[in-house]
Amino acid sequence: MSPTKISRSGNVAPKKAVSAKIDIDSLKKKLTANKTQERVDTTLPEEPEDKQNEKQSEQDEFSKQVTSFKELDLQPDILDAIEKLNFSTPTPIQAQSLPHSLQGRDIIGIAQTGSGKTAAFAIPILQALWEAQTPYFACVLAPTRELAYQIRETFDALGVNMGLRCSTIVGGMDMMEQAKELMRKPHVIVATPGRLMDHLENTKGFSLKALKYLVMDEADRLLDMEFGPVLDKILNIIPRERRTYLFSATLTSKVEKLQRASLIDPVKIAVNDKYSTVDTLIQTLMVVPDGYKNTYLIYLLNEYVGKSVIVFARTCAHAQKVALLARILGFSAIPLHGQLTQAQRLGALNKFKSGDKQILVATDVAARGLDIPSVDLVVNYDIPTDSKAYIHRVGRTARAGRSGKSVSLVTQYDLELILRIEKVIDMKLPKEVPNKNEILALHDSVDRATAQAVSKVKEFHSKRKFKKKD
Ligand code: AMP
Repeated sequence: MSPTKISRSGNVAPKKAVSAKIDIDSLKKKLTANKTQERVDTTLPEEPEDKQNEKQSEQDEFSKQVTSFKELDLQPDILDAIEKLNFSTPTPIQAQSLPHSLQGRDIIGIAQTGSGKTAAFAIPILQALWEAQTPYFACVLAPTRELAYQIRETFDALGVNMGLRCSTIVGGMDMMEQAKELMRKPHVIVATPGRLMDHLENTKGFSLKALKYLVMDEADRLLDMEFGPVLDKILNIIPRERRTYLFSATLTSKVEKLQRASLIDPVKIAVNDKYSTVDTLIQTLMVVPDGYKNTYLIYLLNEYVGKSVIVFARTCAHAQKVALLARILGFSAIPLHGQLTQAQRLGALNKFKSGDKQILVATDVAARGLDIPSVDLVVNYDIPTDSKAYIHRVGRTARAGRSGKSVSLVTQYDLELILRIEKVIDMKLPKEVPNKNEILALHDSVDRATAQAVSKVKEFHSKRKFKKKD
């Protein structure tokens, strides 16, 4: 896909005339001169450790760690799959948890996406499954459909040599098809809790009576999304004789409660993945005058042509509109939000991951749990109302030692939200000032494109309503 160009006059240029990105080099120089860019720590403030486990975890954490997968006595089939994935050394969460999980201990892992936590729980499950080879052996609960698919990919890749059957059971997909899949007796089920419960209640012949391993991934998020009551139901009907792994980015009091209710004598491992954000993330904000938000956004997208960008919007309608606006202006953008069908959401994510689309316009559905490598820029088109969501959004860039940047577009209505965020991250976000002339040059064409995008979104919604009436 050739990069987008918008001419200085603000008109969308024909594809061939393309290198006409706004005179971006001089613009960049000016911007750099104006910018005070700071490097900051965006890791969530650590919450107090669970006293009950403190002694235990201190002992365990430091007594057992490995430096290579070969030390772990894994089945050759699994080791071979690990090699094929080019995992040369275990990540900290793997190095610290695997010696315990492989010995049959329950695990509570405080780790974020990007830490390698999926393989940390998949490897011991596959190692045990290699011996047992029984259906409905393990169940992984994840808060979002996208994360569930991602986890399944890891299982498939690590289990490739051992005839692993894995099913993804999530909302938005056909119940009957899923029921058929469950009848094929998968070894591992990766599910969102609501849909799993639906099948447990309604699919004849399906039960989790034989379950040996339960994983609750992103437990804080599961609880934030009000899955608590469904989790309780699931915990009540699965065997108590099992291993349980609970992973969470933060250890909130709700997560601690869930931990006490579901794990037996767990080893607690907390990894600090500061390395993936602190030194390499630059966060700024732009104060946006009334009516200029879209122009500022397009200005930023123009600066990052050819790079990967996630734009976060507060609502599905905003995400849809912004993606359309960007597309009308020739950018390679795709929306990802809850009003799309599951197939559309997966398609969007895959297109973005493969580099087919460079700009993902997402609601917070996409903010957490997704393994999207190398995002160069995160734009907060809408400022999140929840400060933690801010941290998770900007955590999509500057991962695993790469550099990255986040820019928050702040209108007069967002000042309070930004102050709250600044308090939580304990820093004042430096202001970035775009070149006024460049903004003015873009404004008219962005306004026209916005009007087109808004009318297309309306058309789309009225068609949907019409279809529903049918
Ligand atoms: P996760 O935190 O599980 O979402 O994993 C983040 C990324 O790290 C994924 O792309 C994994 O494939 C990758 N990964 C996991 N373990 C390792 C490892 N030991 N070495 C290199 N990459 C890894």
